[in-house]
Amino acid sequence: THFGFKTVPQEQKEQLVRGVFSSVASNYDIMNDVMSMGIHRLWKKHLIEKLDCGMRPNSPEPLHFLDVAGGTGDIAFGLLDHARLKYGDNKSTMVVADINPDMLKEGAKRCLSTPYANSPRIQFLEQNGEKMDAIEDNSKDVYTIAFGIRNFTDIQAGLNTAYRVLKPGGIFACLEFSQVDNQMLDYIYQAYSFSLLPLMGQLIANDRDSYQYLVESIRRFPNQETFASMIREAGFYVPGKGYENLTFGVAAIHIGVKL
Ligand code: SAM
Repeated sequence: THFGFKTVPQEQKEQLVRGVFSSVASNYDIMNDVMSMGIHRLWKKHLIEKLDCGMRPNSPEPLHFLDVAGGTGDIAFGLLDHARLKYGDNKSTMVVADINPDMLKEGAKRCLSTPYANSPRIQFLEQNGEKMDAIEDNSKDVYTIAFGIRNFTDIQAGLNTAYRVLKPGGIFACLEFSQVDNQMLDYIYQAYSFSLLPLMGQLIANDRDSYQYLVESIRRFPNQETFASMIREAGFYVPGKGYENLTFGVAAIHIGVKL
């Protein structure tokens, strides 16, 4: 145990994760803002701009996006908005996949107030990201996952699946909490996350345990280099060092290309 939190056996993890996200689904947006002090919005925006996706002028082919662990749809709507506003792309498609039907329901509800309401271009799909058996091999151009993969029971299986569903030339992009690259800042960050966060979770969402789980899952996630090597292991070409740190490594974006 660390800081009084019991380590959960792997086989119970999927159940636990399901419970955590069912219990936070309706409070999810608040939770994100609390967890990251609002910074997750900037990180997501940065990811979307970095990818700069959208049908280029004269390109006949729409892009097929897959946002895994897509939850309430932040990344999915953001990618579609970027493609539409910057490239006039009104054709590319989006699948939002998540293991949790409550999170998907929140996403579908939010979709109603976007330009993609009732559009056949966007689909919400209940899927385990480790297998994704409803998604064909070599069928997607862009695979995104934000703050989702650390919840997978088998992270490598998730990466292998990302490789499977992408077309050759397709891009894998992962935004995830990571390791702070400065000792002093890390000390402050650890103190914040292990004491203050669960307390804030309790006060704001009356749900200390879920927040405690989230803190623990961040601590256990592989560091930037290890995660980059897992992406390579799945078969991806990893450009440069493979990642970009955000806010001193509190979060990082990892990129892989299926050649
Ligand atoms: N991507 C969204 C965002 O950035 O706001 C949601 C992130 S939320 C912290 C994590 C999501 O991962 C939850 O919706 C949860 O249901 C989903 N999740 C956890 N394990 C999963 C799995 N094995 N397959 C697919 N989704 C999973």
